[in-house]
Amino acid sequence: MRVPVIVVSLLTIAACDRGAPSSSSSTTGAQASADPAPVASAAPPASASSAPAEAPDASAAPAAADTADAAASAAAADAGPPAADAGPPAADDSRLSVEGRAVQGGLLRAKLNGKLRRMAFPGHRVTVSDEGEFLIAFSRNAPAQEKLTITFDDGQVLEKLFDVEPRKFEVDKVDHLPENMVKLDMATRVKLTQAEKKLDAVRNKYTKRNCYKNGFIWPSKGPITSRYGQPRLLNGTDGGIHWGVDIAVPVGTPVRAPACGKVVLVEKDLPLSGHTMIIDHGQGLTSTFIHLHGFAAKVNDEVKQGQVIGTVGMTGRTNGPHLDWRMNLFETRVDPELLISAAK
Ligand SMILES: [Zn+2]
Repeated sequence: MRVPVIVVSLLTIAACDRGAPSSSSSTTGAQASADPAPVASAAPPASASSAPAEAPDASAAPAAADTADAAASAAAADAGPPAADAGPPAADDSRLSVEGRAVQGGLLRAKLNGKLRRMAFPGHRVTVSDEGEFLIAFSRNAPAQEKLTITFDDGQVLEKLFDVEPRKFEVDKVDHLPENMVKLDMATRVKLTQAEKKLDAVRNKYTKRNCYKNGFIWPSKGPITSRYGQPRLLNGTDGGIHWGVDIAVPVGTPVRAPACGKVVLVEKDLPLSGHTMIIDHGQGLTSTFIHLHGFAAKVNDEVKQGQVIGTVGMTGRTNGPHLDWRMNLFETRVDPELLISAAK
């Protein structure tokens, strides 16, 4: 396949997955005409997503400003919804290829055929690689439709409407937790907020490696006791959303890297999470492992797929030994299980 070299270094559209549907000022008209009903049902954004608001995002800031400038200067050209027939020329659909399933919690791989001028994808942070490739994540609360608008350097515009499959997330009841792990005292809350800020900062970095290309394997194999996106009842009270997939295996079971990457965080005894490790797979994609017992890799280690990086434990808030594996595209939580099944 012939692929033109894309010189656009990093086109970054900064946004968080929280409040996605409501923040799309530039495409409000288009969205409204698309399908009002599901937008309303998807409106409650993931305020429970636990991410503090000001995720440090140094790398994104200047790029986002560029994007804003570009959008402003080009506003006259294509600001309006595609109603006018004097609009920009439409690009052929073949200029964008997409792999994967558009589903809540899902991750898609996309590739452009042609040089990018700019991209609009409300509610998403998209970073296009030098090769024109990028990842798209649909959050747990993604609305029924989301629109990606790509403007190529030759002025052609491609609009891609994703119909996002909705999912049902069953309530997960967890009992027999120590009460002080359900009702957190002030000191613990403060520590928790600090820890979350640190984790968010790590997850929001963009690096060029593209370990996702070789697919993902289970970090440990065993019965799955809780899944992505489930609302939790902890000792009978609201416990927010469970973002990981829980694999029940004994303490000391090896944890393997699900894909290659670089260890970017190793922390002991974080509130709730316990011993925690984050691996950066590149392009904004990270794996987080919590409740670990021990670590077999340290920060800055490059790890291969299948390499043992630690052992399963029961540190932090848990009522039994298990591995909790979470994945993010920047700050959007994605479902690790979908990535495994996509690979097979
Ligand atoms: Zn868990």
